[in-house]
Amino acid sequence: MRAAILRGPADLVIKDVAAPAPGPGQVRVAVEAAVTGGTSIKVYRRGYHARMGRPPLPFGHEGAGVIDAVGEGVTSFAVGDRVVPANSASCGTCRACDHGMTAQCEDMVWLGGFFAEKLIVPARIVAGNLHRIPEGLATEAAAITEPLACVIKGNDRTPARRGERAVVIGTGALGLLWVKVLAASGAHVLAVGRRPERATIALELGAERSELAHEFDPDPVKADLVIEAVGSTAAWELALAAVSPGGRVNLFGGPPERTNVALDTQRLHYEELLVTASFHHTPFHFAEALRLLEGGFIEPGLLLQEHLPLEELPAFMKRAASGGGPLKAVVTPSA
Ligand SMILES: [Zn+2]
Repeated sequence: MRAAILRGPADLVIKDVAAPAPGPGQVRVAVEAAVTGGTSIKVYRRGYHARMGRPPLPFGHEGAGVIDAVGEGVTSFAVGDRVVPANSASCGTCRACDHGMTAQCEDMVWLGGFFAEKLIVPARIVAGNLHRIPEGLATEAAAITEPLACVIKGNDRTPARRGERAVVIGTGALGLLWVKVLAASGAHVLAVGRRPERATIALELGAERSELAHEFDPDPVKADLVIEAVGSTAAWELALAAVSPGGRVNLFGGPPERTNVALDTQRLHYEELLVTASFHHTPFHFAEALRLLEGGFIEPGLLLQEHLPLEELPAFMKRAASGGGPLKAVVTPSA
């Protein structure tokens, strides 16, 4: 079978590898839709992910498909089931899991390699974070579950309040999902991003205003809630500059390793700022995201802007990493 392997920064190849057979408790998924996004572009560019792994790295962490083989002992899934596997499963027993911080699990099982014809889903994910795709929801639409799950977990961290002023910095797929979630909560949303065509999508998703990043002046804005969805230190600083006294900042985008930002101690203390972050998702939020997608929460076509075969992924990633790609592309490895 063919599989995309990341060998280092901006070094992605399609390789022929033996199709794996599922072991006890595992299932094998024929991947029908694997999607790109801001995180996959970031991982491609950097050549690693702080949690998901280092090269050689089976590439891709969002996707869905059909079970085509089941391992010994699997009773809750069968060949032919359309499923969306989460890309992780926490252990449920460590200190972090015990405290409900399952994204910080000390023994997390990660799943990568969605950009491949077949994907082996580890037993722990089969047991607790593999989801049947509801009838009526397209397989490729279910592939958005992962990023939406990250956003609704983030929103639990800093719940949007009706009528408050919110700013979302970053209009990639995740930033735009944030716009949708905040607007649905009744917040007045200003979206800030670099690309004019994405500003238009932000308005479609419920933002009241959008501004281009190079024109954005945080001083007169002073929002009650600021979401940073870029993952750069400059955007983190901008987020902190845009919050009003008593406001909340959610640093949602993950910057590169060994980077720092300075905090204005006077503002942090005397303005009583709440500064927090959210990483990844939990099985609860994953299930909730799938339920929202089933209910038509978002029009998938707004995000899934392009389709391509697996062979074209390396060239696509090169283009996307230089800043010219679509919000999300659907790769169809087993089509
Ligand atoms: Zn754990």
